[in-house]
Amino acid sequence: MQLRGGETLYQSLVEIFGKERVSKEDFELLCYSRDAGSLLPKSPEYVVVPNSKEEIQRLLVLARKEKRPVTVRGAGSSMCGAPIPLVDSSIVLDLTRMRRILDLNEDTMSILVEGGITWTEVIEYLQEKGWELGLEGPWSAPSATVGGAIAVAAICMGAARFGGLGSEILGLEVILPDGGIMRTGTGAHPGNLMVDRDCNGIDMAGLFIGSHGTLGVITEVSLKIYPLHEAEDYFAFSFSSLDDAIEALHGLARYRIPYDTRIFVHPVPEEMGGRACLVSMLKGTRAEVQEQGRLGLELMRRARGKQIPDFGKTYYQGRFTTRAEAFGKAGPGWLEVAGFIPIKKYPEMAAPVLDYFAERKAEIERLGTHPPTPTEFRRARQQLRTSLLMSTESLSARMHAIARMLFEEGKLEPLDAIATAIEQTTLEEVCSLAVQLANWRTWSLVLCR
Ligand SMILES: Cc1cc2nc3c(=O)[nH]c(=O)nc-3n(C[C@H](O)[C@H](O)[C@H](O)COP(=O)(O)OP(=O)(O)OC[C@H]3O[C@@H](n4cnc5c(N)ncnc54)[C@H](O)[C@@H]3O)c2cc1C
Repeated sequence: MQLRGGETLYQSLVEIFGKERVSKEDFELLCYSRDAGSLLPKSPEYVVVPNSKEEIQRLLVLARKEKRPVTVRGAGSSMCGAPIPLVDSSIVLDLTRMRRILDLNEDTMSILVEGGITWTEVIEYLQEKGWELGLEGPWSAPSATVGGAIAVAAICMGAARFGGLGSEILGLEVILPDGGIMRTGTGAHPGNLMVDRDCNGIDMAGLFIGSHGTLGVITEVSLKIYPLHEAEDYFAFSFSSLDDAIEALHGLARYRIPYDTRIFVHPVPEEMGGRACLVSMLKGTRAEVQEQGRLGLELMRRARGKQIPDFGKTYYQGRFTTRAEAFGKAGPGWLEVAGFIPIKKYPEMAAPVLDYFAERKAEIERLGTHPPTPTEFRRARQQLRTSLLMSTESLSARMHAIARMLFEEGKLEPLDAIATAIEQTTLEEVCSLAVQLANWRTWSLVLCR
């Protein structure tokens, strides 16, 4: 690609980033052609790894002038193709070197970090100082970046108490496509700290939460912090009807009891049994956790729940490994869509989802016969499932659908088979169902195209 005056784009990028932080090598581009999901890979033409805001500004000005798409990338842990370039001749902007902690302000109870830092790095730093975040980030926290999670409006650990990610963000600094820098809320005044969003007119931070890097590059984030909690506890209950489980869940939400809660509907883990089950994590001072536990158990019993010892603790303590393992075991074709649904509406909205899985029962069982081992069968069943995640006043229903049975049967090359299966069958069916159901998140709609 020649630029005006015969200068190559590569040379211009090298001028900005130096040779060691620009790549056009196939083997490196390949690493940026995928995320953690199974959508069709696409390599960028160049990858650049900035060290500073100035480099990002210069890149965006250059890309704009040359009409080159820029795809922002955090850890690439998205499951839906979000950090994969959409079109040819893209430049991927890898933010993982911009990972400094800029300021811990105990007076304003806030921490200022760069967008490329991981959630776990922030959490561990704060723990040493006797502080913690409200939301612990997504379950990919050991690798997911703070900026990446904000860009996808990730549903985070602690959502039952704190709600959406926006509730914990005090301010953002964003580099806009023309290279200009925008700071939101109180930070909009030159020299002021980003310690409050809700002031000075329009909430500009909200514009970038869930923007998927389309409106700018999130370079700095100010988050609320809290004194480190003293105690935590867990409980798990199974229910013989979905209505009972929903009644229990609604009670927990009404009194804002747990720190985090999830329910499983299809399939219910074998150790739990019943028609639906619920796990909760409690957090706070010792006295608070004791009181939350007392109230929680009372609500569970009122909703006719059966307590399952130890499951809650095992589930939450393994949260950073179990999900990654589950994705690994599920194999290629894992696809996920998520949305917010009022808790009480769940049984009505889940019906078509559960019907969908019932219709696919034969395929699931057939897959289990190649080879016909119990492990294969169990894995196949786990691949098609729904589970729920509770937010303060709403639920996020997650549908996981797998196209692996088509891959197993397909006569195409593995990658083509996966792509074909996802694009032609599961993607279309699951996403159109998702869109019909409720206010599904943007990327579900994007995938539907
Ligand atoms: C094991 C596992 C568990 C997961 N658990 C959860 C979960 O509990 N909840 C959940 O919501 N998701 C979850 N995910 C999905 C994913 O990890 C999260 O959405 C995560 O927040 C993505 O962050 P990232 O840094 O990897 O971003 P990437 O995947 O690199 O990028 C995601 C999107 O954000 C944009 N972007 C990235 N950084 C920036 C930036 N600084 N400025 C502007 N745009 C940017 C990208 O262009 C892209 O559109 C999970 C994934 C895995 C593999």
